[in-house]
Amino acid sequence: MSSIAISLLDIEDDASECLVAEDYQTREGKWCAGCGDFGALNAVKRLLAKEQLKPEKMAFVSGIGCSSRFPHYVNAYGFHGIHGRALPIATGLKLARPELDVFVVMGDGDCTSIGAGHWIHATRYNPNLTVLLLDNNIYGLTKNQTSPTTPQGYKSNTSPRGSVLPALNPLQATLGVSNASFVAQTADWVPAHMYATLQAAYQHTGFSFIRILQRCPKFTPDVFQDQIKNPDLTELLVHEDGVDAPGLERLFKARRVHDPKDIDEARSLAQRTDMLRLGIFFRDDSFPVYDEIRSVRPVSPEEKVQGLEREFDRYAV
Ligand code: SF4
Repeated sequence: MSSIAISLLDIEDDASECLVAEDYQTREGKWCAGCGDFGALNAVKRLLAKEQLKPEKMAFVSGIGCSSRFPHYVNAYGFHGIHGRALPIATGLKLARPELDVFVVMGDGDCTSIGAGHWIHATRYNPNLTVLLLDNNIYGLTKNQTSPTTPQGYKSNTSPRGSVLPALNPLQATLGVSNASFVAQTADWVPAHMYATLQAAYQHTGFSFIRILQRCPKFTPDVFQDQIKNPDLTELLVHEDGVDAPGLERLFKARRVHDPKDIDEARSLAQRTDMLRLGIFFRDDSFPVYDEIRSVRPVSPEEKVQGLEREFDRYAV
């Protein structure tokens, strides 16, 4: 059964009002202590404040999962959809209301399993959406089942002897789709990088896909521990068209200049497992954007009635 959550708009439309990050949060997030979703929510709030987005001019759409509680906590319109279906809902919304900024929040089970078909086709359609994949490598909300991104050998309730298959790589998969226009990876434990990546994604016109590696201390407490403890295991992708943030050069010594327009190198880097890579893998603003090609003309109530009558007439006997 789907559930729909409409966040209350408690900020008046006052052009002179300057909104701060806390104005964009409706209530305290109900996640476990130490959950990476808190950091992602903070980065999103900072972005909304930086861009001074009006709550009534944006919408957050999610599927089902821990991270899909996002629309309840952001002071904007929200749609807590059904499992795996956040992307078609968001695409339809963007087509019908192109003036809205539409954000999509999904988990790895939501996006890369039941929602995989929608993920592939939404990437190809390239609607103007900012898409956050919060990837904690597990089904958390339903209490510890193997997801497509669970590392091989990792034990869960559904794989008590360990996951038998190699994990699906969401970057590789997205970069393999025709018309993919923005693919990036960041991590919740590097907040400055996460914020800069969100900002770049928001400013991109088209389907901005960000995989956020997200800590789940409840069920996958150890999957990112090596990289968290040792920053030398992480390489930042840097470029004048990429993302960077003050102070990151001191933390991360490994830096690679990568031109985000180079799709071949992006695919090659995405499949390598020698290091964790954060940054923009690919970005091209020139690709066709579906909601710009197929913008929906506003339809009056009279035209809707006429259209319905035409459809009914087709079945008249
Ligand atoms: Fe976060 Fe994991 Fe708890 Fe879900 S189960 S709220 S992902 S820590």
